[in-house]
Amino acid sequence: RCSRILLMKNYKTIFKETRVNLGGGAFGKVDLVRFITGENYAAKKIDIASNIMKTRTMREYHIQTSLDHPKLVRMYLSFCANENTILIMDFMRGGELFERLVQDDHINETDVIVYVGQICEALRYLHSKNIIHMDIKPENILCESPNTRLVKVADFGVAHQIKDFENLTLWTKYGTMGYVSPEVLNFEPLTTGCDMWSFGVITYLLLSGMLPFNGSNMSEIISATRRGQFNYYDPAFNNICDLAKDFINNLLKPRPASRMTAAMALEHRWLKEGPSKGFGNS
Ligand code: ADP
Ligand code: MG
Repeated sequence: RCSRILLMKNYKTIFKETRVNLGGGAFGKVDLVRFITGENYAAKKIDIASNIMKTRTMREYHIQTSLDHPKLVRMYLSFCANENTILIMDFMRGGELFERLVQDDHINETDVIVYVGQICEALRYLHSKNIIHMDIKPENILCESPNTRLVKVADFGVAHQIKDFENLTLWTKYGTMGYVSPEVLNFEPLTTGCDMWSFGVITYLLLSGMLPFNGSNMSEIISATRRGQFNYYDPAFNNICDLAKDFINNLLKPRPASRMTAAMALEHRWLKEGPSKGFGNS
């Protein structure tokens, strides 16, 4: 890997010639940058003119640079250019998992297990460090290359560190409607369990192409989430084994303390043994 100094020195000149827009989320704009060493990185440019964005971006930088796990997108450094901060990360050339889902409508169960297992490894590591991601969704799961099923969790823009013996209560609704847990909507104290809810939503979504808690507008989605009722009526679930449904049922529990943790989920038979066609295929 090239050194920090080299990256900084060459950023300006190289940036202009080789940047390719990879995507823009709610806050950042992400470009592909190539340094003279020939290596590609992703550069997330964030406007930090407001104090809120300054704090948010500093938190993102501190959390993401403190992480070191093969299933998390690594961040190396940040620097300022005018009113913008630029965050330099590993470039994930396979794009978003979301795009794979949209292309294929839904993903076959065997592949879903491969993706879900990796996301779960990432969450186990994050949660062992008392960090909540707070925005687990397929747009923030990135694929290493177009022709493998290797993925990493990205976007620590709203991630939070929980302090020992302290409740984390946030007065802002972080996350994305449809994925967000009832306790986030209700401004209740948060635990790493809120990621496990979103992880359950992702699992349901990858298998069926549908969100478990949906509606035609924001307030319908919010009340569906608060009710916490969902079903497997969609025909996409006809050939999905009961182990998968048991896995989801154990994540989409309204009470955060009743949900599987990431460590428990990794031990679940669905992830360990794969789709079990013999296990009552209703
Ligand atoms: P936001 O906080 O605005 O959602 P993200 O970090 O999620 O910002 O980045 C927005 C989008 O840019 C992602 O959904 C993805 O499409 C693309 N992107 C982000 N980071 C990378 C990366 N390291 N490699 C490739 N594409 C990336
Ligand atoms: Mg994002």
